[in-house]
Amino acid sequence: MLTIYRRHRRSCKQRAKGREYRHCQCPIWVDGALGGKEMRESLKLRDWQRAQEMIREWEAEDRRTRQQELQITIEDAHAKFIADAEARKLNDSTLYKYHLLFRQLDGFAETYKLQFLTQLDLDTLATFRAPWTEGPRTSLKKLERLRTFMRFAEKRKWIDDNPATELKAPKVPNKPTMPFTREEMIRILTALEAYGKSAGIRNAQRLRAFVLLLRYSGLRIGDAVQLDVNRLQKSKRCTRRRRGYPSIAFCRTWLSKHWMQLLIPARAISSGQVSQPFAAPKGNGNAGFNGCSNWQR
Ligand SMILES: [Zn+2]
Repeated sequence: MLTIYRRHRRSCKQRAKGREYRHCQCPIWVDGALGGKEMRESLKLRDWQRAQEMIREWEAEDRRTRQQELQITIEDAHAKFIADAEARKLNDSTLYKYHLLFRQLDGFAETYKLQFLTQLDLDTLATFRAPWTEGPRTSLKKLERLRTFMRFAEKRKWIDDNPATELKAPKVPNKPTMPFTREEMIRILTALEAYGKSAGIRNAQRLRAFVLLLRYSGLRIGDAVQLDVNRLQKSKRCTRRRRGYPSIAFCRTWLSKHWMQLLIPARAISSGQVSQPFAAPKGNGNAGFNGCSNWQR
């Protein structure tokens, strides 16, 4: 905070009134602290109004500098987000997708000479999003990642609000995933016979059990891979189900009827006491991730 005062000359008639008196023409001085530094010096001005404008401008400039020093850069925010995601042990595929997003964002910031996170306003983010060429579903996922990042920054008060929430989501056509038809199932199971001849009957049986499990349980592929047969035996029902799949009641009945013929061979095949017959062998990196991507093929 700076204050100005008149430093009265010896000859000034108002000298006795001290610093409080300013209606004379003595030189104006400034007193106070600016940018953490004490100052007391002459402004080399006699016009009170001009002196006031001058120190107001100095103070505004000082605020701008301090704000810039406090402002977080896009690069810092990005590094902190990734460090946090790693500490939260997000799985590799999620982390990879965030890395992809940041690679794009960094490139964009470079092109448009953006340095600070606050520069990513709604208009800028819309420009960033405009050239995305992915399909609506992928594009939506990407937008959600962008929103998550900006929300992360908002929570830490690096930005005042999250402009990414204002970005309109792409329209995703509503196409529910339907179970295979009877004909498709027959074709898959026939294909498995041929597969058995080349890859061995045990592999084919395991795959057949997996296909049937997916078909009748309605489990997501990732959940089916992680399925613990022991837990199934106990509750005889699946816990998660996708829309458009058989009801839980049906699922429970079917599994209690068929799990023995279906899963016991699968378990026996994968060498005895394995409780997750479809999961990838342990010690092979991230079992869930690898297992899932293998089955998706
Ligand atoms: Zn004076």
